[in-house]
Amino acid sequence: MTGELAIGIDLGGTQIKGALLDVKGNIIRKQQVATLANAGPETVAARISRIITEMENEAASLNKKVKGIGVGVPGQPDQAEGTVVFAANLRWRHVPLVEYLRRATALPVFLENDANVAALGEQWHGAGRDSFNMIMITIGTGIGGALIFNGRLYTGSSGSAGEIGHTVIDPDGPLCSCGRSGCLETFCSGTAMVRMAGEAIDRGRKTGLAKVENLEARDIFTAAQAGDEVALEIIDRATWYLGIGLGNLINIFNPDTIIVGGGVSKAGDILFEPLRRKSMEWSLEAPAGAVRIIPAHLGNDAGCIGAARLVLLQENKKCGN
Ligand SMILES: [Zn+2]
Repeated sequence: MTGELAIGIDLGGTQIKGALLDVKGNIIRKQQVATLANAGPETVAARISRIITEMENEAASLNKKVKGIGVGVPGQPDQAEGTVVFAANLRWRHVPLVEYLRRATALPVFLENDANVAALGEQWHGAGRDSFNMIMITIGTGIGGALIFNGRLYTGSSGSAGEIGHTVIDPDGPLCSCGRSGCLETFCSGTAMVRMAGEAIDRGRKTGLAKVENLEARDIFTAAQAGDEVALEIIDRATWYLGIGLGNLINIFNPDTIIVGGGVSKAGDILFEPLRRKSMEWSLEAPAGAVRIIPAHLGNDAGCIGAARLVLLQENKKCGN
């Protein structure tokens, strides 16, 4: 045997990404297919299995052994049972994912929430490499969160820690997908920013955003770069609320790093300058001085890299490390 490998799978609502990695985190091979969530969990599992089989064949052709498979799922997994308890995007409840994958592979399979595996990826090979106490937030349709303390993933008592998007910032705020009102993600997710643009257009505000078809958060940042007043106001409002959210996290956890991921994290200074300034306004002096707020580095690969990391961490646990 000339070396060992791990397979990382990033199961998303629209795409399944898979990667074969060595123990240092170098990607040997990558693959991506459509999830086809509407076809049901067994079809989705079969599509994941096909990627796993190809990765295993690739490893065999390299004369290397695969230690296991990590899967990041967009919801809450039950690691002990090998099930996905709930995944809103996939419309899954109590899906025995590991049992389905067993039909194609004898390798050990480890499940973890997608925000958590992205954070593990960034900690291993991305923006959090030098970090010991790290919080990652991912701004997308909603706002995902993950907590790494003392170098280890913190998942809480029932595996659901890090739901930063559902911390309430204003109880009188907009209705949230979780059924409550004024959660952080109702003010600063991509969805929220697009909603604010629609409201401004409905009020008759003049903005270039009115002409954009299928408006996304990234269009708002592009318009803001060009000086669009409505776009600038939306970013001002979103970063004000996000600053409160991060300020609270900074005061509670005293992290050394907060990593901001998701599509909008590529927006650069137009996002990060106001976000850093406003987060500091809501933080106490000592923890404010200890934290850096930085963009994620790994982009779309974070999930696969972190999922493979999961396999290696489980191996370490077994050895008592
Ligand atoms: Zn909520």
